[in-house]
Amino acid sequence: MKEPFLSAVPVLEKLVEAGFEAYFVGGSVRDYLLNKQISDVDIATSATPEEVKRIFRKTVDVGIEHGTVLVLHNQKSYEITTFRTEGEYVDFRRPKEVAFIRNLKEDLQRRDFTMNAMAMDRFGTIFDPYKGQDAIKAQLIKTVGPSQDRFHEDALRMMRAVRFASQLSFRIDVETLEALSKYNYLLDKIAVERKRTEFEKLLIGQNRRQALKILLDSSLYKYLPGLQNQKHLIESMISYKSETLNLSEMWVLLLHCLKVPENQIDTFLREWRLSIKEVKEISHIFRFFTLRLQKKWAVYDLYLAGGNTIMSVERLYSVILGSENHNSIDFWLKRYQELPIKERSELKVTGNDLLTWFNRKGGPWVKETLEKVETGILEGNVLNDYQRIKEWLMTCSQK
Ligand code: ATP
Ligand code: MG
Repeated sequence: MKEPFLSAVPVLEKLVEAGFEAYFVGGSVRDYLLNKQISDVDIATSATPEEVKRIFRKTVDVGIEHGTVLVLHNQKSYEITTFRTEGEYVDFRRPKEVAFIRNLKEDLQRRDFTMNAMAMDRFGTIFDPYKGQDAIKAQLIKTVGPSQDRFHEDALRMMRAVRFASQLSFRIDVETLEALSKYNYLLDKIAVERKRTEFEKLLIGQNRRQALKILLDSSLYKYLPGLQNQKHLIESMISYKSETLNLSEMWVLLLHCLKVPENQIDTFLREWRLSIKEVKEISHIFRFFTLRLQKKWAVYDLYLAGGNTIMSVERLYSVILGSENHNSIDFWLKRYQELPIKERSELKVTGNDLLTWFNRKGGPWVKETLEKVETGILEGNVLNDYQRIKEWLMTCSQK
C-alpha cells in the first residue's frame, strides 16, 4: 500500500477495534489499481453515523442523511460513509430514502460502475464481487447490474460514464453504451449543477474528444444546457486538438465553436450554473481571444488582458491554428513582461492630480485622460513619472 492510504489506515483500525468493518472504497481503489494519482480516499463502514461520531473525537456532519460523516485525523479529513442501499428512487434522481446496512457487498452493489464497486481493507486485500478488476484490465466502463435499471435509478450515471471515458480513456461496455442512447432523455430530470460537475471533468479529461463524440452519438448532448441543436458545431469542436487546454480555455473553445454571440455569453454560462467569478474569467479570455483571431496583440490589450489571459489566449489560438506555437506564447509574454506598467494602480498620477492640474470638476474626462496617460506610458511616449506626465499632458492640451 502507499499514500494516501497509509495515513488513513489508522482510521480504519479505529473502526475495526470498535467492532465494525471498514474499507477504502470507490475511486481511490480504482485509481490505486490503475496506478494513477489518488485524490481523496473514501471510507465505507458498517458503523452507523452515530457510531462513527462516538469513535472519533473530531467529526463534521457533512451529509448525515446519506450516512456520511467527515472525520479529522492527523490534520487530514476523511469522508466515512455507512454501508447503505438506496431505497426507492423518485423521478430518476436521488433515492427517496437510504437504508443503512451492515453488509459490504450490498453497499458495493449500489455503486455505479464495476470499476468503482471495489473495496480494500487495511491490509491491502481487495474485495471485488462485481469483477471490477476484470473491467479495469479490459479498460471497460460497465454498470453494476443492468444498465437500464441503473440509469433509471439515477440518470446522472449516464454523464458519469462519459466523463470516465474521458478521464480514463476506457471504452463503454456495449450494453451500457446502448442504454445511453436509449435512455438519454432521463438526463432531463437531473439538476444542472450535477451535470456540470461531470461535464467539466469530461472537458478536461485526456480523452475529451472521444468523450464529446460519445455525447453526440448517444444524443446525451440534447439534454445539456445550450447544446440542444448544435450537433455540427460540437463536431467542429471535436476536430480541434484541445488536449493542451485547461477548463476555462475549454469553455472558451466551446463558446467559440458554438458561435455564441458576445452578448449571450453570460446567459449561456449562467445556464450551466457557473459562478459569477467563473463567468467573468471565461468572458475575459473569450473577449481577447476574439480580438486575437482578428489581429495581433496591441500593447494596450496586453496590458488589459494580463499575463494569465495572454497565455490562455495564445494556447487557444494555437489550437485553432492547429500549430504548436510555444514561441508565440513566449513572444507575447515577453512583450507583456516588458510593459512599463501592468496595472492602473502603478500609475504615478491619480484622478485627483488631474482635477488639481486642470482645475476642473470631475467627469468622464478624468477616466479618458487616465486612459490616455496609460496608453502614452505603454507606447513609450511618456515615462511613468509624476512631473513628466504633468508636462506631457500640458503640452498635449495646448496642441
Ligand atoms: P473521482 O476520482 O472523480 O472523485 P470517484 O469514482 O471517486 O471519481 P465520486 O463522485 O467521488 O467519484 O464518487 C465516489 C464513489 O461513489 C464512486 O466511485 C462510486 O462508487 C460512488 N458513486 C458516486 N456517484 C454515484 C452515482 N451517481 N451512482 C452510484 N454510485 C455513485
Ligand atoms: Mg472521489
